[in-house]
Amino acid sequence: MAANLLDLDLEGLTAFCDSLGEKRFRATQLLRWIHQKGAHDFAQMSDLAKSFRDKLAQVATITPLPVVTEHASADGTVKWLFDVGAGNAVETVFIPEDDRGTLCISSQAGCAVGCRFCSTGHQGFSRNLTTGEIVAQLWHAEHALRGRLNLKAGERAVTNVVMMGMGEPLQNYAALVPALRLMLDDHAYGLSRRRVTVSTSGIVPMIDRLRDDCPVALAVSLHAPDDALRDSLVPINRKYPIDELLGACRRYLDAAPRDFITFEYCMLDGVNDAAGQADALVRLVRSARVPCKFNLIPFNPFPESGLRRSPRERIVAFAQRLQDAAIVTTIRKTRGDDIDAACGQLAGEVRDRTRVHERLRRIPVVGERASSAA
Ligand code: SF4
Repeated sequence: MAANLLDLDLEGLTAFCDSLGEKRFRATQLLRWIHQKGAHDFAQMSDLAKSFRDKLAQVATITPLPVVTEHASADGTVKWLFDVGAGNAVETVFIPEDDRGTLCISSQAGCAVGCRFCSTGHQGFSRNLTTGEIVAQLWHAEHALRGRLNLKAGERAVTNVVMMGMGEPLQNYAALVPALRLMLDDHAYGLSRRRVTVSTSGIVPMIDRLRDDCPVALAVSLHAPDDALRDSLVPINRKYPIDELLGACRRYLDAAPRDFITFEYCMLDGVNDAAGQADALVRLVRSARVPCKFNLIPFNPFPESGLRRSPRERIVAFAQRLQDAAIVTTIRKTRGDDIDAACGQLAGEVRDRTRVHERLRRIPVVGERASSAA
């Protein structure tokens, strides 16, 4: 079967060139053609010998992901739904801001973690994406947007990547790491480690491995100040409770390109948004000695969740309480509201494979209170 070269980082491509009896520097030439110039046809690669191009055409492909839909929001956000076969689709979202263009990439079709507030978690797990399928999201977005944004040679559309789309990236580690290496490689996308973020629900052993293998910025989905509540919101907490998770965060900082961990915190009305819970978070991160920032995410409601978004004033008050304790705290802007830009919302319309909606509805949320009680 022909190899999809989107699957190969520099090391893999070098071995591939070796196997064809070609010099190793051909690997960097191929990387530049594929990832910097967006070539998908070997005939375009004008500085490669014709005999090598002919050989490549027989044994390799550059196979992007088919686009199912593309939606562009009035605020510049673009969301693609890509077909990954067998009725599965994954989402990729581009979020432009004044000083950056951030691409949110998926790592799995569905997700096995099953977070209560997450649309993807409600769809169940189908399969891991390959390295090529992860990278193809960046490849497509970068080259589609370059033309559309009228960028000059050398300018990039995507300046930041967050592995925060569908899936738990650290449960697809073998495919993730070569994809990260391609994002960082100067012959491919050349992003700095600080501008590539892996977001995890807290797979402790894999946080340690990432620190050793490919340290990039780390975001952790915390969402609760104590184990009882986090067990009910992020089920992986039963395996890796908060103190173990914070220990891994502390170790990660030894190698991380940033000197803080970002904690994501989805604001759920009457569940995790009380003033006392903000104070408990402050005590938690102080006692664990983890330098951190908080990113408060207004929950994007979807019918099956049974949860509501915290009112704006409560989110602001929660942020203020963290800031008063000298913790840098941001509130995520809701972007692309007109195109359902929240994780998993479009793909969920494609398929719910496992009837996981029904299972999740049966799990009570610890600490759930009526909205008016908060
Ligand atoms: S929040 Fe992330 S880890 Fe949790 S279910 Fe959704 S995709 Fe999976």
